[in-house]
Amino acid sequence: MGSAVADRNGDRVPVGQGRIVDRHDGWGGSRRTVWPGRLGATRAVCRHHAASVPATDDIDDILLEVVPTGPEVATEQTATGGTEGNGEDHHFDVVIIGGGPGGYAAALYGAAAGLSIGLVELDKVGGTCLHRGCVPAKEFLETASVYRTVRSASDFGIEAGPDQKEPTVTFSVSQDRKQQVVTQLFTGLSGLLKGRGVTVFNGSGTLLGDHRVRIAGDDGSTVEVTGTDVVLAAGSVPRTIPGFDVDGTVVLTSDEVLALERLPESVAVIGGGAIGCEFASMFSDLGTKVTVFEALPSILNGCDEDVVRTVARSFKKRGIEVKAGVTLHGHTPDPSGRGTVVSFGDGEQLAVEAVVVSVGRRARTEGLITGDAGVTIDERGFVVADSSMRTSAAGVWAVGDVVAGTPQLAHVAFAEAIVIIKSILGEPALPVDYARVPWAIYCHPEVAFAGLTEAAAKEAGFDVIVKKDPFGGNSRARIIGDTEGMVKVVAEKRPDGSTGRILGVHMVGPWVTEQLGAGYLAVNWEATAEEVAHFIQPHPSLSETFGETVLALTGRGLHVA
Ligand SMILES: Cc1cc2nc3c(=O)[nH]c(=O)nc-3n(C[C@H](O)[C@H](O)[C@H](O)COP(=O)(O)OP(=O)(O)OC[C@H]3O[C@@H](n4cnc5c(N)ncnc54)[C@H](O)[C@@H]3O)c2cc1C
Repeated sequence: MGSAVADRNGDRVPVGQGRIVDRHDGWGGSRRTVWPGRLGATRAVCRHHAASVPATDDIDDILLEVVPTGPEVATEQTATGGTEGNGEDHHFDVVIIGGGPGGYAAALYGAAAGLSIGLVELDKVGGTCLHRGCVPAKEFLETASVYRTVRSASDFGIEAGPDQKEPTVTFSVSQDRKQQVVTQLFTGLSGLLKGRGVTVFNGSGTLLGDHRVRIAGDDGSTVEVTGTDVVLAAGSVPRTIPGFDVDGTVVLTSDEVLALERLPESVAVIGGGAIGCEFASMFSDLGTKVTVFEALPSILNGCDEDVVRTVARSFKKRGIEVKAGVTLHGHTPDPSGRGTVVSFGDGEQLAVEAVVVSVGRRARTEGLITGDAGVTIDERGFVVADSSMRTSAAGVWAVGDVVAGTPQLAHVAFAEAIVIIKSILGEPALPVDYARVPWAIYCHPEVAFAGLTEAAAKEAGFDVIVKKDPFGGNSRARIIGDTEGMVKVVAEKRPDGSTGRILGVHMVGPWVTEQLGAGYLAVNWEATAEEVAHFIQPHPSLSETFGETVLALTGRGLHVA
């Protein structure tokens, strides 16, 4: 369509045929390049006006200076390509090291705003979340859910077949299906990045001084790129504990669990946090004998007590043994190579086929930064960043799991990436409110929450009013045959005794990870119970339980007192 950009003198350069440097009149100094050929051919960005404008006609107010450079320099890397460019200029508005949720979100959001983006990824774009985390773990949990459904199919008058008393699991089929899902999403993401003109470099990135990033490919090749801004998005890897060296067969981390072709007969899950409980739930539902070891007094540390109690009760009912407040001493592998004996507590022992170490994740900062870069790393190896995700080095940002003291969640990384790009563009950007992000744990029963627990609200000095509504009274829950769990809403009690702001929403039960939206919004909008109670939930739906709980908080409920 013959798109072109123009400077204030009317000089026009066809898109894809020039390099444009924007410079605000009277601002001097800093320059930022925009390569329109990479921008979906339609938009240019002015940082100083914090605006993105069509790169077509008159954009006088943008004060673009046109620097003709001939055809656009394009490196042809794809998600599976190499690092070798064409030897030309490798300067980008933003260079991002790491292509997980934090990195690829910054790339997509930045490219959508018209920034030129170089994304460096040593493995596959999608990161932990897509390849070794959220997506594969939830796929296996879905296998467990299907299994539970099939097992209870006869309750609905459906028989799997005359000879089939109990369903069976062929885990390798689930593994294949998981991989298909991951591959489809990976292909989609790679296409999205390509479509937005993001240049993906396959290699390991190291931030040197002066915003230079050296990229080392597997084949020994290196290339250096520069960014006006640089984003560190290297993510995290599983932590291990002394005495439990990961060997990939007997002692596993999440990485190995998600690659299993066969279910072990018994496992010890070390760590009763979100990931540990998801694995415990999945293994148990599929027939593996599970013992969870947790050093703290209970599993799911940080969740509301009522929620923890509900999950613990469900685990117990299903035969998952939870050993909380227990110290582990190590393990002695069976000489046959199959299984091991875990030592814990006061000389106690447990023989299992496999141990799953699920004790958190450490930042992947080794080789990421040289001393010249001026980026502060804390004593635990995480990158220190402020609430706008700025590191100690000017123009260097950090996002996602690699950042110190932030929740390691993919959607938090997405939100941080948006903050970074808006800040780079000079747009107002609200920092992520870490105390009120949504949490979702996909064990059975599911857990979802946002905001303060009842205990945390009291500890913070709030006088609180609390209402709980079990799913047992919800018609949809009865229909689907899954009534375990409840919704609990914690609200501020005003001095006159009436209910004020909703401080926390805690859910445990069927599909609550899909229901948290309204609760999350209520907490973050700082809405009162009265305001939220005004809104209608569809009937029959699981979300009515949230609606009923909030209605009850106003002092008068329908089904809930
Ligand atoms: C089993 C499991 C289940 C999970 N479930 C959930 C869930 O349900 N919901 C949720 O929100 N979160 C979940 N998470 C957490 C989520 O996966 C992470 O929070 C998220 O992936 C963090 O994104 P990131 O971009 O910061 O890092 P990562 O996803 O770790 O991505 C970092 C990327 O950077 C690359 N990289 C590292 N160093 C370099 C370098 N020097 N040069 C080039 N590339 C580099 C890596 O190869 C990787 O692709 C789960 C995690 C696990 C392990």
